[in-house]
Amino acid sequence: MTVIAIDGPAGSGKSTLAKSLAQALGFVFLDTGAMYRALALAAQRAGVAPNDEARLTELAQQIRIEFVAGEGGQRVLLEGEDVSNAIRTPEISALASRISVHSGVRRAMVALQRAIAQQARGVVAEGRDTTTVVFPEAIIKIYLDASPEERARRRQHQLQQQGINEPYEKVLQEILERDARDTSRPDSPLRIAPDAIVVRNDGWTKEQTFAHVLALCQARLGHSP
Ligand code: C5P
Repeated sequence: MTVIAIDGPAGSGKSTLAKSLAQALGFVFLDTGAMYRALALAAQRAGVAPNDEARLTELAQQIRIEFVAGEGGQRVLLEGEDVSNAIRTPEISALASRISVHSGVRRAMVALQRAIAQQARGVVAEGRDTTTVVFPEAIIKIYLDASPEERARRRQHQLQQQGINEPYEKVLQEILERDARDTSRPDSPLRIAPDAIVVRNDGWTKEQTFAHVLALCQARLGHSP
């Protein structure tokens, strides 16, 4: 199994990049953020509080999350229900970053992520800890980053396309809060792996980011045994 791992903060463009890379290379796209989001949605529906580690861990151990090919790309199923749109609200973004601080939750999610990867020939994984914790053996590790202002502009645009109108200042505030939680939690904080290639894509288009990272991957894959 060949793993390409991409980490970085919210709005850096990881999902878009990982999706395109997976398509270009014929690999599975493993969106680990979507898994924390699906768990957040399940917790919200079950009335489990974000600080209830025991119940959240239990939920994470029992939950059935699947990725399937569907309309407009890959879809996320929670207990067989397509929740791809329901997990993209600002409320679920914030909730996912609150429940993901718990070690029990992370252990269960990491096990699930490795199990999905085991079944694939190749995987492009993206998230906050895929380069550092989930796939330390990844053949190439990318840390994708951009300024908070640029990331907030992108996220605002993305939300607009989903019909969600949020003022720029609010989106920026939400991004900064998520950054703070994701980088300061004691278990698996977002950080740059020592062997990661840092790619800062301020002012770049999606296509430029893709072309740049694809070339890095091809160079590395071409030289791998
Ligand atoms: O990447 P995305 O914005 O979908 O992730 C939602 C939240 O899930 C993040 O803010 C982070 O708190 C959590 N997450 C995580 N570890 C990952 C992926 C996401 O803790 N590998």
